[in-house]
Amino acid sequence: MRLGTVTGTLPVVPDANRPLAGVRGLLLDLDGVLILAGRPIPGAVDALTELERRGVPYRIVTNTSLWSRAALARYGESVGMRVSPDRIWSALSVSAAYTRRRFEHQPLYVLASEDARSEFVGQWLLSNAEAAARGAHAAAVVVGDSPEEATYGNLNAAFRLLRGGAELIGMHKNRWWITGDGPTLDSGAFVAGLEFASGRKAVILGKPAAAFFRQAGSELQAEIAATPTGRIARHDLAMVGDDLWTDVLAAQRAGLRGVFVLSGKHGRDDLRKAAGQKRGGGRPAFVANSLADVVAELD
Ligand SMILES: [Mg+2]
Repeated sequence: MRLGTVTGTLPVVPDANRPLAGVRGLLLDLDGVLILAGRPIPGAVDALTELERRGVPYRIVTNTSLWSRAALARYGESVGMRVSPDRIWSALSVSAAYTRRRFEHQPLYVLASEDARSEFVGQWLLSNAEAAARGAHAAAVVVGDSPEEATYGNLNAAFRLLRGGAELIGMHKNRWWITGDGPTLDSGAFVAGLEFASGRKAVILGKPAAAFFRQAGSELQAEIAATPTGRIARHDLAMVGDDLWTDVLAAQRAGLRGVFVLSGKHGRDDLRKAAGQKRGGGRPAFVANSLADVVAELD
């Protein structure tokens, strides 16, 4: 065998016995990792406290677009999880930042809850009546979790704006999630429906977009660089999620280590399925029952 010339840094060779060796920061999914069906997952509050105690920085990275970061932080506080809003990266906050950069002073139609729309403060949001008016125009239609907003009338207004040239933005494209009532339709279905009807492809800003993981990861890397740990590679960050594809395998494609927890919506059958998939499949760096086991595995 002929060896090629080695240039730059050597590739990281994972140690099968210590899959999280060298991990110095975590991106944590919210639903299925910290909470499930509106309640904290057993051990999650203590796991966050342990991360604080050991000085392991983290960000909550969530596709939840139903609530603003301020509302999420208040909810966390109410169940014993003290997470400041600036530690939260949500599909909603990233979408609001994107439209602020890209569509300044241009009309937007945002299908989201009243609280979620507060993230778009200072931006020009059309009301439902304005969006449905004859001749209405928008630079973008932005679709988030909006159970009470996803009416036929509003979706039809969105469809017409898309035909008029608006960009279609999905805060995410999740199929379903778990609420207190069980498996529940998520807003990915509305994004897919609008794509189907309009013939336009949506820009997806939340997970599994690689840019979402890279941006959240860069922020965490910058925080760690200012500590005695110093500069770290993206591979020294791990993404912990209960969605094998959207959280874990997508983060691995973006250069992080993927950690799959069994405390949420996917299970071991999904692991087998993903392992056998040629496209979009693969295996996580580490599988754990819950976040508590992940924290215990850190070196
Ligand atoms: Mg989740």
